[in-house]
Amino acid sequence: MPVSPMMQHYLATKEEYKDCILFYRLGDFYEMFFDDAKTVSEELELTLTGKDCGMEERAPMCGIPYHAADTYITRLIEKGHKVAICEQMEDPKLAKGIVKREVIRVVTPGTIISQEELDETRNNYLMCIVDLSDRYGLSVADISTGQCLVSETDGVPRLMDEIQKFRPSEIICNQALLVSGLDMDDIRGRQHIAVSALDDYYFDDEACSRILTKHFHTSSLAGLGVADFSCGVIAAGALFQYLYETQKNNMDQMTALTPYFSDRYMLIDSSSRRNLELVETLREKQKKGSLLGVLDRTKTAMGARMLRSMIEQPLIQPTAIEDRLTAVEELTEAPMNRDEIREYLQPVYDLERLASRITYQSANPRDLMAFKTSLQMLPFIRQLLSDFQGTLLKNIREDMDPLEDLFQLVEDSIQEDPPLAMKEGGIIRDGYNEMVDQYRAARKNGKQWLSDLEQEEREKTGIRTLRVKYNKVFGYCIEVTNSFKDQVPNYYTRRQTLAGAERYTTDRLKEIEQSILGAEEHLYGLEYQLFSEVRDKIAENVARIQKTAQAVAALDVFCSLSYVAEHNRYVRPKLNSKGRIDIKEGRHPVVEQMMKNDMFISNNTYLDQKDKRVAIITGPNMAGKSTYMRQTALIVLMAQIGSFVPAESADIGIVDRIFTRVGASDDLASGQSTFMVEMTEVANILRNATSNSLLILDEIGRGTSTFDGLAIAWAVIEYVSDPKKLGAKTLFATHYHELTELEGKLPGVNNYCIAVKEKGDGIVFLRKIVRGGADKSYGIQVARLAGVPEPVLQRADELVRQLSDADITAAVKNMTDKKVKKEKKKLYDTVDMQQMSLFDANDNEKIINELKELDISSMTPLQALNMLNHLQSEV
Ligand code: ADP
Repeated sequence: MPVSPMMQHYLATKEEYKDCILFYRLGDFYEMFFDDAKTVSEELELTLTGKDCGMEERAPMCGIPYHAADTYITRLIEKGHKVAICEQMEDPKLAKGIVKREVIRVVTPGTIISQEELDETRNNYLMCIVDLSDRYGLSVADISTGQCLVSETDGVPRLMDEIQKFRPSEIICNQALLVSGLDMDDIRGRQHIAVSALDDYYFDDEACSRILTKHFHTSSLAGLGVADFSCGVIAAGALFQYLYETQKNNMDQMTALTPYFSDRYMLIDSSSRRNLELVETLREKQKKGSLLGVLDRTKTAMGARMLRSMIEQPLIQPTAIEDRLTAVEELTEAPMNRDEIREYLQPVYDLERLASRITYQSANPRDLMAFKTSLQMLPFIRQLLSDFQGTLLKNIREDMDPLEDLFQLVEDSIQEDPPLAMKEGGIIRDGYNEMVDQYRAARKNGKQWLSDLEQEEREKTGIRTLRVKYNKVFGYCIEVTNSFKDQVPNYYTRRQTLAGAERYTTDRLKEIEQSILGAEEHLYGLEYQLFSEVRDKIAENVARIQKTAQAVAALDVFCSLSYVAEHNRYVRPKLNSKGRIDIKEGRHPVVEQMMKNDMFISNNTYLDQKDKRVAIITGPNMAGKSTYMRQTALIVLMAQIGSFVPAESADIGIVDRIFTRVGASDDLASGQSTFMVEMTEVANILRNATSNSLLILDEIGRGTSTFDGLAIAWAVIEYVSDPKKLGAKTLFATHYHELTELEGKLPGVNNYCIAVKEKGDGIVFLRKIVRGGADKSYGIQVARLAGVPEPVLQRADELVRQLSDADITAAVKNMTDKKVKKEKKKLYDTVDMQQMSLFDANDNEKIINELKELDISSMTPLQALNMLNHLQSEV
């Protein structure tokens, strides 16, 4: 038996979309066959069946009802698949021979546009990367908003930073990228980004330029302002080609190509981004508990997305930052206006994404109503904005096109409360179109005729309970209850028998029915056509809508920043170009929100380019060292976003980069040793930081043996504090008290500690940062707080005393001498010996015994960790 024609077509189509799961429409179902069927049945736990298709064996098959397809597609996309949707292109009833079918769209993680599948508060980016050996061309697009950026960069770490910044859900690239040394396991596995390499022809230089100039209707790339990015242009060209092929439309919502200069933004490497919890928390990956969580009081989805991307990309140009700060200040000084603006922003719909859906012809009548409601707010907002004089708010007002013509168009054409369905009428407003009115009149007349007919028939037959009714299957009928069945005249034709009644029709009734249904059919068709015309007219104005949307988004962001500034008592930071960071009574924006009644203790920070370059911060665990350091980083970052800051005053020397090296717990999943991860990050920092950077280094050297660790920490401080080498502003928290010896020996290095008060056996955390090094580490007291059993604490106490006898500190003092290397070696030798003797025979055994006696099953992981840590650091 030959392979059936349908299956031949299926196989040919599948050949074209090899890397996709092919959803093949058969009647009311999308069917998948062969391996696709197996994959889908496994991934979605659906039953696998089979279909005879002329082959020796039945083809494995799996089906999904077409109306439920969206949710299944979403789940497959989430699992990293691409789905090609092959539709019936003609009515199967009218088809001659096999029904014509075509792939109408390929859905991939980076090209989702459906509202249900997208998170409205973040962009869904598709990133194209072309690896041209010495440089990477980049292009990033969100087709649901029409945004498209072009950029380029070099070096794998910088590329990773860009990936982390945009966090695309999909990356397309040339083959070369897969072998470029980029950690694909990390990208695919940990970051859940779908990556696929395209054939090389996508990246042909000339073809790419041609695609872009054609799309944007310009004669040259210079006209697009992206001529400087010769590699970026290739990425963008390939990206557009991919979009045309998967979306099967001309991507009209992509109205501009924006050059993106990453050097205009503060550079934050990927681990610092995570550590500072800018947009999500480290562990739960939630917005709540992140900086974004605190700053986001936006009213619109567009504003929420813009704020997120502003937090991801702090500025470095003072004028740009000042402009933003002025906008926030103006709004804060006029809180009534601001709050009124926020009220008007509340009902504003996601104009950006709506504009895209309009160009995709997937917007429904209710979307147009929401569009109209949004536009209705704009004149009020513009009016309220007219009081402001600052550059940004003025620009926002100017950019905010009230789109009156589009408002009027929708107002005139679309009914106030239209249905969701597009083909069942009720969409077009009376008076908009003559034909619509006529059909409606015909339908209305028909209804009048029906009620006249009912009256007449009652009189004629004498059946008072006779009724004209409508039923979806049988249409209009005359219903007579059983008790009057005998009185039915003979020109009635029976249509349906019910339990207590009979239903009939008559010639006159059929006539009326036809004119009503005929009118309805015409009406619905016409209404749909008119609706589509209105939608297309709006689509022609997509660029105007996008511009307005951007203005609304920016206004929403500044209102949010102003609102938060007022409610959380933030101040406008000053900016300086001297590299001085002077924060008075600064607070951690997130931690303070988690505490009730102003429990958060504020602290000062002073760092400059001269004698206060490096702050070495000591203090027991839990004292608040990392909170303090992060707070400083976050305040600087907030200032450079253009936000007010949690402090009494802040004078911020703009920093070009922020690097943080903090706890390694989140890196354990990557499979590298903690120490290796730590050192890789330190290496990255030392190589990429400049004298204008801010470094937050927490417990450097912790992941290795005490003395290696100390030596590394020491050497790092020497390097960062030396203006001839790095000379960057640095906050350096450490357990190694020995490092406090560096004050006075290395220029620019100063000691600070977080004060604690001893109270009996325990300690009280004062959370205040003060000058000087901590005299003790209070490890045992903290271990006690954590609940480590008393015998262990006592033994640890003993060990501490023995160790201080060894007086390592004194030995270490010599480390800054000129003969540093020799001394260090000597030191290590003596210390190693001391360490050895310490663990000689008895002590060693004692510890082992104690360890054996530990009731591990009753300890919490924290207790265990604290004890281990303590023993390791104190021994
Ligand atoms: P360390 O880094 O010294 O071990 P952390 O910075 O992690 O300490 O702080 C431990 C806890 O102390 C934090 O979770 C926070 O709840 C609290 N804390 C820190 N700083 C302050 C402060 N300035 N005011 C109030 N509580 C604080």
